[in-house]
Amino acid sequence: MYERMFGVDVTTESSEKTIGRIFSRLQNDEKSFIVAINPEKLMKSRRDPELRGILNKATIGIPDGVGVLIASKLKGGKIKERITGVDMMELLCKESSNYNTSVFLYGAKPGVAQKAADNLQATYPSLKVAGTLDGYVKDEAEILQTINDSGADILFVALGSPTQENFIIRNMDKLNVSVFQGVGGSFDVFSGNIDRAPLAFRKLGLEWFYRLLKEPSRWRRQLELPKFLLAVLKERKNTGGSSYE
Ligand code: UDP
Repeated sequence: MYERMFGVDVTTESSEKTIGRIFSRLQNDEKSFIVAINPEKLMKSRRDPELRGILNKATIGIPDGVGVLIASKLKGGKIKERITGVDMMELLCKESSNYNTSVFLYGAKPGVAQKAADNLQATYPSLKVAGTLDGYVKDEAEILQTINDSGADILFVALGSPTQENFIIRNMDKLNVSVFQGVGGSFDVFSGNIDRAPLAFRKLGLEWFYRLLKEPSRWRRQLELPKFLLAVLKERKNTGGSSYE
């Protein structure tokens, strides 16, 4: 089930259902491409049809962040749960450790992917890490070879948006991988380079506020949230509350 926001499809399913769907696709040899949809990307994609096209190439758009949840509520939509990119990545690792599927971490500064993998393995001891690669290797053929040689089933790409989505779209058919997820700064979180907001902040949907306190330079990016909600309200008024398009 999907809900369309400014021309981009976002899943209305819970994280549990989404994980179930991804793993049944994996078992049927169907490739999945997961993209995190947040207000910043939605605002950009309103002005940028190319970006909208990229986001819509995903098999599953997950509601990343409280802004998407509020937007859905404002129009009486069905998104009940926020699924951040970091949470999705962790759920995929957790499920992988049960299913015997292996993961590959590609992206971020040298050393970060490996440290993130080590920490994930400490949490999920039976997790199979097929390999890691930093995001500053330039030779794409070499990158593809390394990932394919690793035999990974799931690939996390942390190159920032939309570089990571473009990498996935360009190479999905060339890689013998089943699940692809663009994960932005998630390796920095798992490696411990960036603290995640304390649970209390996350439960209240205030992770953005915590990140603003820790990285004040993000304020410009975060201005997109109120702008986004205003745009949602405006659309709602214009369409009588029925649609975002
Ligand atoms: N990055 C990379 N290669 C590059 C540019 C960026 O691996 O050529 C990494 C960077 O080190 C960081 C991540 O991509 O770990 C970008 O994270 P950010 O939080 O900016 O992601 P976004 O919010 O754009 O999804």
